Amino acid sequence: MTVRLPADPVPSDASAARRRPALLSSRLVLGVFLVLLLVVPAILSPYYVTLLNYIGLYAMVALGLVLLTGVGGLTSFGQAAFVGLGAYTTAALTTATDLPAWLAWVGASPWLTLVAGLLITAAVAVVLGSLTLKLSGHFLPLGTIAWGISLYFLFGTMQSLGGHTGISGIPPITLFGRALDDGREIYYLIWAFLLVAMLTTHNLLDSREGRAIRALKGGRVMAEAMGVDTARARMVIFVIAALLACASGWLYAHMQRFVNPTPFGVHIGIEYLFMAVIGGAGYVWGAIVGASVITVLKQWLQDLLPQLLGSSGNFEMIVFGVLMVLVLHRAREGVWPILKKLVPVRTAPKTIDTAAEPLPRRTLPAAGERILEAKNVTRKFGGLVANDNMSLEVRAGEILALIGPNGAGKSTMFNQLSGVDTPTSGEVLFLGKPVAGHNSREIARMGMSRTFQHVKLLPTMTVLENVAIGAHLRSDKGVLSAAWRLDRAEEARILKEAARQIERVGLQDHMFDEAGSLALGQQRILEIARALCADPCLLLLDEPAAGLRFKEKAALSELLRKLRAEGMATLIVEHDMDFVMGLVDRVVVMEFGHKIAEGLPDEIQNNPAVLEAYLGGVD
Ligand code: ADP
Ligand code: MG
Repeated sequence: MTVRLPADPVPSDASAARRRPALLSSRLVLGVFLVLLLVVPAILSPYYVTLLNYIGLYAMVALGLVLLTGVGGLTSFGQAAFVGLGAYTTAALTTATDLPAWLAWVGASPWLTLVAGLLITAAVAVVLGSLTLKLSGHFLPLGTIAWGISLYFLFGTMQSLGGHTGISGIPPITLFGRALDDGREIYYLIWAFLLVAMLTTHNLLDSREGRAIRALKGGRVMAEAMGVDTARARMVIFVIAALLACASGWLYAHMQRFVNPTPFGVHIGIEYLFMAVIGGAGYVWGAIVGASVITVLKQWLQDLLPQLLGSSGNFEMIVFGVLMVLVLHRAREGVWPILKKLVPVRTAPKTIDTAAEPLPRRTLPAAGERILEAKNVTRKFGGLVANDNMSLEVRAGEILALIGPNGAGKSTMFNQLSGVDTPTSGEVLFLGKPVAGHNSREIARMGMSRTFQHVKLLPTMTVLENVAIGAHLRSDKGVLSAAWRLDRAEEARILKEAARQIERVGLQDHMFDEAGSLALGQQRILEIARALCADPCLLLLDEPAAGLRFKEKAALSELLRKLRAEGMATLIVEHDMDFVMGLVDRVVVMEFGHKIAEGLPDEIQNNPAVLEAYLGGVD
């Protein structure tokens, strides 16, 4: 059986695609675009070829920002500094006459200085990234401004880099013995670089690493609980964006044959960010669109406005600023999604390979074996004792419910059990090992998988992709394999597993829908499928029935029963007594942080203390 799914991994407007009949194949559109690129230098005047060269160079930097800012949610104003790093490395090395022998050979060819520039940029990006990426909120953009300014002044101050006068006499790039010393010739190199960069970025986003990267914006807590190292993913996109900027700088230096600090300052860094945002920061193609719109618009305004308003003053920057604000108001997603709607393109269908080898599975502990044990757990928040000397255990093949009125301390207990929080005293053992001191990733790897009280999913990604994040820790292909498509066998295994879990929970009809389009009940079920995709031996569910309709609750009960029969240990934290009573094996009741009762559902339902807590509670 093969299942068809849309290939476009970046958020797409699915409803628009449904409304409009698909007309053109994406291959055809891409083919026309490539042919145009190929013939354009023969048709257009050198002026326009130069313009296209700049668009290509800018688009490469903007593409890094698509990955970093649009997809990863990290705003950087400092990309121009990385362009400068690439440009200055090659400028300095290829023009220097007094380099020591061990270094001189690098300056012999621009291709060697490209490698040198990429290595230097990667090293600088790792250092700057480890200093700034930990910053949250507006501190991160401020951090990028800070190092953007520092590098800019470094270029201008270092006498060996020519100070503010810069470096001239940079040789052209030679390719197959031919010097690319003309705008039309370097045009092909620039656009080849850009197309390769776009292809690899596109591939990367459509992979295991890509899902981790796409989870960075708004899904970090969830991703960590699924075993994703989000700090590493942030560093990865930061370095990739820096490398793209560096390559653009290298091309720029050899196109201009001259560099000075001006194009590498923070205000150009802001312009790069504008390009990404105006073009469509969430889309690979947004980079080209943004670079084109801004470059052409600026050029056009520069020519037009002096004729209208006289030639004194930078009127174009003022008009430009106003236009930016308008676009930010009117088209937040950028221009690319609007263009996409104008040209209805049919994307090549992708398939789930049902013949793919299944992912490895852990052997579940025998039914009745103790999986999770809390011993005298106390958690205090200042003077408030949210959990007071709580003990409980969960065994393989059983469902335990932790219930109690609002504010009883259930979520706090859930956090102690799942290792999100550490008890003030007492301990939690999972498969006999202490949970304390392990981060969510390690705990996920140990076999504990959770859902969230407030659903945490990536609304613009499909159900399939969301669930596939659950399999992150059962696979290991990284960025390079993804970029060059060497991860396809593993990716097929991941998607097959995700599809299997989606069918297991009964969401198969929504496999390719955007997760955000599902009803709340279905979203909760999706979270369970995602948790199952991690192949856990313990499921922790925080209020899974909250907000569900009667029928949805019944479906959830049935699913949990099925999992229990397969040997899964499940702990449900729930507020809804009716939902719990017909389903679970044992119940622990909390009130004001204490355990007030424990036993079989029937015993609990008739326990006077429990009835008092529920009837007299703040519900
Ligand atoms: P439940 O999930 O049963 O509704 P919670 O565990 O969320 O209850 O809360 C139990 C008590 O602990 C409440 O009084 C709540 O205000 C308090 N509490 C929970 N988390 C914190 C925190 N991080 N800091 C201070 N008080 C907290
Ligand atoms: Mg709660």
